[in-house]
Amino acid sequence: MQEVKKRILTGDRPTGNLHLGHYVGSLANRVKLQEEYDSFIIIADVQALTTHWEKEENLTRDIYQITLDYLAAGLNPELSTFFIQSMIPEIHELTMYYSMFTSVNVLRHNPTVKTEAAQHGFKDMTYGFLGYPVSQAADISIFKAHLVPVGEDQVPHIELTRKIVRRFNDLYRPVLVEPEVLVGDVPRLVGLDGKAKMSKSLNNAIFLSDTPEDVNLKVRNAITDPARIRKTDPGHPEICTVFEYHGVFNPEEVKEIEADCRNGSIGCVACKNKLSVKLNELLDPMRERRRKYETAPELVKEILMEGTRKAHSAARETMVDVREAMHINYFDHEIPI
Ligand code: ATP
Ligand code: MG
Repeated sequence: MQEVKKRILTGDRPTGNLHLGHYVGSLANRVKLQEEYDSFIIIADVQALTTHWEKEENLTRDIYQITLDYLAAGLNPELSTFFIQSMIPEIHELTMYYSMFTSVNVLRHNPTVKTEAAQHGFKDMTYGFLGYPVSQAADISIFKAHLVPVGEDQVPHIELTRKIVRRFNDLYRPVLVEPEVLVGDVPRLVGLDGKAKMSKSLNNAIFLSDTPEDVNLKVRNAITDPARIRKTDPGHPEICTVFEYHGVFNPEEVKEIEADCRNGSIGCVACKNKLSVKLNELLDPMRERRRKYETAPELVKEILMEGTRKAHSAARETMVDVREAMHINYFDHEIPI
């Protein structure tokens, strides 16, 4: 008998192209685990609307771009199922049921919700934004996922998902699976600004779709140690974003670079050049795969349609159990009159 694989559920908001932070935080794990797990990748368009409700005209483009990013990064559509959140109405139904027993205070005190609300300048959070972790709990549990590979900012949300699943299973019947979180090797890659995490919305990212020239220019303009004026001045790698990236993307040379920077024998220009070379080595095979799919847009559409169809059917199956557990399968009961 064929062994049933455990499931992965993870994904991204279609709010722009994917970047190196996504790669090291979550995508690399997805690529690595796609053979071992039955992988579902959600393109969370409804969650995108929680902050981008006035930018709806970008959604179609961003959905296709993110799919190209997945394919470029090495996700194989034969192994991974890509689907669009809004096209699975059962997710929204389950969100509504979960919201009946999830308290507003728990959401208000969620550290990621707080940070993001501040980032977006929300003084008064919308109902949809405040509730997006509940919707995420539905995204994950409707597929009975065992594992969720994500970046560090998502950890409180997976914790909440586990709580909601436990609560549901206690209240009604144990039909749902409590998922584990898997944070990537680099849980939070800093942005080119050296301040916030690298993010699609903060203009501090190196994108998987950037050309070699884009990468060279972004790295050249990255801020290094401000105290270093001349090449021979001793550097302070611990406060330098370029050095941090060497640690992630150039582990073989990082020790040597640290020593050379501290004793002033490597200048920032040479150090940045080394980094650009490494980044382009990582991105080159992605560029090649992207080109292949860019020239076949119909194929990309088919991959999305087929993935959404498969995900919809899995979600429908879970909801039969959910409705039964909650006794909202009214026409299946004996008539109580
Ligand atoms: P937005 O600015 O629109 O919120 P984002 O760049 O934060 O975009 P998301 O779609 O919110 O990206 O996140 C998708 C996944 O990528 C999540 O699992 C998140 O933890 C991970 N991720 C995003 N940015 C980073 C980063 N800089 N380092 C590590 N992981 C990250
Ligand atoms: Mg985000």
